[in-house]
Amino acid sequence: MDDLTLEQKATLVVGAGFWGTAAVGSIPAITITDGPHGVRLQRAGGDAVGIADSAPATCFPPAAGIASSWNPELVERVGIALGDEARAQGVGVLLGPGVNIKRSPLCGRNFEYFSEDPLLSGELGAAWVRGVQSRGVGASLKHFAANNQETNRMTVSAEVDERTMREIYLPAFERVVTGEQPWTVMCSYNRINGIPAAENHWLLTEVLRDEWGFDGVVVSDWGAVEHRVPALAAGLDLEMPGPQADSTAAVVSAVRSGELAAGVVDAAVRRIQALAEKAAVPRPQTPVIANHVLAREAATESMVLLRNEGGLLPLDTAQAIGVIGEFARTPRFQGAGSSQVTPTRLDSALDAISSVAPVEFAAGYSFDPRADTAVLLEEAVAVARRSEAVLLFVGLPAGDESEGYDRTHLELPAAHTELIAAVAAANPRTVVILTNGGVVSLEPWHDSVPAILEAWLLGQAGGLAIADVVFGRVAPSGRLAESIPFRLQDTPAYLNFPGENDVVRYGEGIYVGYRYYETVDRSVRYPFGHGLSYTTFSYSALEASPAGASVTITNTGSRAGKEVVQAYIAAPAGPVSVPRRELRGFEKVSLEPGESVRVTIPFTRRSFSHWDVSESGWKVSGGDYRVELGRSSHDIELSVVVHLDGPKPARLTLDSSVADFLAHPVTGPLFGRAAGPGEGGTELLDLVSSMPMRRLMRFPGVGTQLRSIGVLMAVANNPVVRGVAALFRKR
Ligand code: BGC
Repeated sequence: MDDLTLEQKATLVVGAGFWGTAAVGSIPAITITDGPHGVRLQRAGGDAVGIADSAPATCFPPAAGIASSWNPELVERVGIALGDEARAQGVGVLLGPGVNIKRSPLCGRNFEYFSEDPLLSGELGAAWVRGVQSRGVGASLKHFAANNQETNRMTVSAEVDERTMREIYLPAFERVVTGEQPWTVMCSYNRINGIPAAENHWLLTEVLRDEWGFDGVVVSDWGAVEHRVPALAAGLDLEMPGPQADSTAAVVSAVRSGELAAGVVDAAVRRIQALAEKAAVPRPQTPVIANHVLAREAATESMVLLRNEGGLLPLDTAQAIGVIGEFARTPRFQGAGSSQVTPTRLDSALDAISSVAPVEFAAGYSFDPRADTAVLLEEAVAVARRSEAVLLFVGLPAGDESEGYDRTHLELPAAHTELIAAVAAANPRTVVILTNGGVVSLEPWHDSVPAILEAWLLGQAGGLAIADVVFGRVAPSGRLAESIPFRLQDTPAYLNFPGENDVVRYGEGIYVGYRYYETVDRSVRYPFGHGLSYTTFSYSALEASPAGASVTITNTGSRAGKEVVQAYIAAPAGPVSVPRRELRGFEKVSLEPGESVRVTIPFTRRSFSHWDVSESGWKVSGGDYRVELGRSSHDIELSVVVHLDGPKPARLTLDSSVADFLAHPVTGPLFGRAAGPGEGGTELLDLVSSMPMRRLMRFPGVGTQLRSIGVLMAVANNPVVRGVAALFRKR
């Protein structure tokens, strides 16, 4: 680096094309490409950004699907496969994973994100990074941060309070950065409390580097940089895409004029150089690796069996099966936008099902607006009548959700809900199979069908996976990574999404997803964590301590299956408002019929903490915490209380409140006694309890009564006296 001129350095901190960095001096160029559920490498001579024409690569289930697996081990294996495919194609950094929180089901990019819960998002994102980076390919953790909508994504300011940021929108990033050291982090397009993420020193330097210890490269989202110099000063190392002559010139002149310290540029250059040296290792140019088998396995674990009345599923392959719905023949297997990959192969559910069972097909609806819908509906009803069971494929057409815009409602197309009504009336043994990236409403048709399989977007092998699950070769084991509400109006961000005048206020605070529904007791159609199997599991012998919870899980049914054991913690009422319960750990276990396993889920002090804004740090309030083990955020099987001590009482000053004096082990008993019972004394204390002592003493007479307060405080603040008093109080 020492040999580089300022101009060369300023060239290196900007990309050299859509998908690569510049080769400068002895620093090699590297190839960077999307991500996250497949490698999207632009083919020579393809379209400008490579979206429509990328080199074939395995298309795994997008995040909305694979998150439902609740299986980090599986996600890591997918990461390894992605790393291998990226390496084989000469890619040094793969742009993923996206760990933004699903704040509203309307976000157009929810299919690319894992969950409404930060712990689940963080664990799955970490597994992805572990897998990819184990193959010598870098990850790019995105979109940092508070990028939870597509409306005005390049300009909108997300107005988020500090506690909400720390408890909901940052922890998944923190988990991945501190645990896996991703080679790069991608800043988002939006502003956060008015400051663009790309120019946000607090975010990119104070939190990311100083607090979390990130030492990789911060890269901009494509086109996120508006002002190169302040972005560099904030900690943004690499602007993409490039080249941008004005950025390079601005950096040079800012250093020359003294506006920007040369050391800032050097630090960015050093980090880009380190990345290039790691990522530009010679790559074996092997042919495309076939990961279709793994894509199929991942897809089977990505489906969530929402409903299965009378055990309709699994179906018997000897039955005459009506397969209805164009999605069965023409699968929609990924979302639209920058994450779109060209699959190496594509299996339809219709082909997969037809290869094992006698099938009659009807399209039911068409993606062609000129089609005669009445005729299609009639044909579908006729097939339904002739069949012993129906697999009915409905969902969101490709244009309904995409990067770049949000949905405005949760409904399926009318043609699909009409089809459900007609087919369900013609055949009571109808299974609805849903294709969608973001959550859809299951109303008003939910009760009219006995079985519903949420199949999300499943990648290139989804068709085979659906056949595996509906015929019982594999028991479904997915669990919802996001709640399914009854109505859009029930969702916590409803009144504050997508904002106005380029500002979106996160008015619901920490009450996102199930944290909201459970706390305000609002019913949902299916809660976070819900999902059925073809077998049943029992929970017993729960033991818990601040270090973790252990429980015995037994497969009480007659088939093998996987259970996702979910550990929630319910904090006691304390100094801040807390959700009814929060996910603090989980584990997926596979059990043969009759088999039992002891599952231990570890906790840390953080599992019991909230973000304390007065001290800008994590804090445990003392009290009884309920550790709850369950099948979903709403279905708790066993619970046990664990006690945690809170922080020692703070030093008393004249700015402490009357309540602080009352809670203190030395002054509390004295004040209580002074107020005396029977004459409204204690009520009077309640009335003034929030007053700072200094203010109370300004009331006539009170100052004289409390003239020895200084001595009292000195005694109370003495650690020896405090310790003895606390001992007496316990007795
Ligand atoms: C997206 C990123 C993506 C980048 C490169 C942006 O528009 O927000 O997720 O990685 O483009 O395609």
